[in-house]
Amino acid sequence: MRRIDRRRTERLRRRVANFGVSFALGALVATLLTDRIQRQRPLQSTEPLSIATTGNTESSVAPPRAPAIEAAVPSMADAIGALARRDLLIPVEGVTANRLTDTFNDARAVARRHDAIDIMAPRGTEVRAVDDGTIAKLFTSKAGGLTIYQFDPSQTFSYYYAHLDHYAFGLAERQPVKRGQLLGYVGSTGNASETAPHLHFAIARLGTAREWWKGDPINPYPLLAK
Ligand SMILES: [Zn+2]
Repeated sequence: MRRIDRRRTERLRRRVANFGVSFALGALVATLLTDRIQRQRPLQSTEPLSIATTGNTESSVAPPRAPAIEAAVPSMADAIGALARRDLLIPVEGVTANRLTDTFNDARAVARRHDAIDIMAPRGTEVRAVDDGTIAKLFTSKAGGLTIYQFDPSQTFSYYYAHLDHYAFGLAERQPVKRGQLLGYVGSTGNASETAPHLHFAIARLGTAREWWKGDPINPYPLLAK
């Protein structure tokens, strides 16, 4: 009886010790990763960062997902040509091309471009998918507020919708979406002015790893205001 107890105690002790070691290792890795990401993070921003410059810690914690498509990244000229042929939809309900303004190159912070366009609209206006594709990530950030990262069907591009008031009911990551599908509603979450709700919309050419938070910014204005 006693021997069994002792053996059981010993097993428990070993399990606790193993757990302790794994926990310590996990904590160490997390600390190192967080530190690395924080050092890469830009100093300050007054606008939601577009995909290319979004620094976030979550990306370092999430397990890397195997890229579904291992295709080469097109040149910028080819990428813009391909996007132009996709006939992107203006993502805010009721907004026509002549109401868009090109704010892509506006300065938003020291040495930072806006890399997006702002589409002004009353709070609660429907936000619709510019293209077919997949919801890559639903993300909340300090600057962007409630945001959506959508990939196009070829996983070459990422479409970024920020400052949303709320998401469309049932919207989920990895969900396939169709051009024109309701994604959410215009708002002023993040650092948008309460009195000037708008959709901050950005496009990026993804890298080979298809990481939703990384990419080279492409001006959406000429692609939408045609
Ligand atoms: Zn903006």
